Amino acid sequence: MTAVSRKKTTAKAAPAAAALAEYHRRRDFTRTAEPAGDKPASRGETPDHPLFVVQKHAASRLHYDLRLEMGGVLKSWAVPKGPSLDPADRRLAVMTEDHPLEYAAFEGTIPEGEYGGGTVMLWDFGWWEPDLAWMETAKKGHGRDAAAAESEQPIASPAVGEAALASGDLKLIIHGQKLTGSWALVQMKGRGENNWLLLKHRDEAARPGADITSEAPDSVATGRSLDEIAADEAS
Ligand code: MN
Repeated sequence: MTAVSRKKTTAKAAPAAAALAEYHRRRDFTRTAEPAGDKPASRGETPDHPLFVVQKHAASRLHYDLRLEMGGVLKSWAVPKGPSLDPADRRLAVMTEDHPLEYAAFEGTIPEGEYGGGTVMLWDFGWWEPDLAWMETAKKGHGRDAAAAESEQPIASPAVGEAALASGDLKLIIHGQKLTGSWALVQMKGRGENNWLLLKHRDEAARPGADITSEAPDSVATGRSLDEIAADEAS
């Protein structure tokens, strides 16, 4: 893994294009059906909110790709075991290259021999926002303040999320179909800059002992299983 995916871009005209250089370098768009990132993204029913997506990816090893819209691209992490609603689980999330916004609508098969070859499923989809209540109370040295969390919070500006990510500690609220509530993405300092942990915070959406990846294995977009997606692509 190179540092390219985390490099800040100063290009004003096309920041997303510069951030996507690594994404483009790894792929041959004459061979893969993945989006090249030159069309507007499908923003679903929440056009004013940053996209959240998790793609289940049966590459050489099955994993889950968490993607959050930030700065005109999808910041991306590969989560080998997938997300968990159990706050006791700390899931390794390895930061990968930025993906184009269009990727949030991709479900299909990447040909064998190409980068990431295998079947991709839209496992969860929605939007996200920085968890302002939790970030405020964390600054004061105690846990997430339930009263603050329940009060009306303004939608944070995108810069708040970008600054939190840059600091290696992003607390966020996920509005997905399978994943909801408050989460944290925490960089493991001193363990390689790409290694993060994905954690479910203790809140009303937490489900100790639950295994969401086996409870809800199929696509939120089409209801298909990985095998069904692969079979549809082959026919
Ligand atoms: Mn992947």
